[in-house]
Amino acid sequence: MRRRRYNRAAIIRLGNLAIMAVERTLSIIKPDATRRNLTGKINARFEDRGIRIVAQKRVRLSRAQAEDFYAVHRERPFFADLVKFMISGPVVIQVLEGDNAVALNREIMGATNPANAAPGTIRKDFAVSIEANSVHGSDSAETARNEIAFFFAGSEICP
Ligand code: ATP
Ligand code: MG
Repeated sequence: MRRRRYNRAAIIRLGNLAIMAVERTLSIIKPDATRRNLTGKINARFEDRGIRIVAQKRVRLSRAQAEDFYAVHRERPFFADLVKFMISGPVVIQVLEGDNAVALNREIMGATNPANAAPGTIRKDFAVSIEANSVHGSDSAETARNEIAFFFAGSEICP
């Protein structure tokens, strides 16, 4: 059986018709949200917008995993606190799939700081602070590919 690969962002143009290709993105429900038992409510936000959760696992991140995952922020003043927060409780790590999933998920999540997040977004409705902001979402198709591979083997993803 030929396996379909959906990870690449692509817009297929047929004449004037632009068809948005199916993408995958990595999502993490952060410890502030798992602590308040919000996994189901957050998942409903994804599913209500047509996104499919094609892989999901609830784990405690190790310090090394959290440091590696957020390595891009290593020099930022909030890095140590961010790592401490990310290992303070369970997280739910997910692969989301759908049309334009990277950008759509960022829209559903809302701005990093809940004070700036639009009404109806996850962060506006559930986040506690700029750090404890309930969810992570990949910020580009390339980041998504790397972040998905960081946490999941191909065989763990079930479209
Ligand atoms: P994420 O990468 O978690 O999806 P994001 O892309 O909206 O969030 P980033 O700039 O990548 O935001 O920051 C990563 C995470 O670091 C944020 O989600 C938040 O938990 C934390 N963070 C960002 N800025 C600050 C800050 N000024 N103070 C404290 N924590 C911060
Ligand atoms: Mg980010």
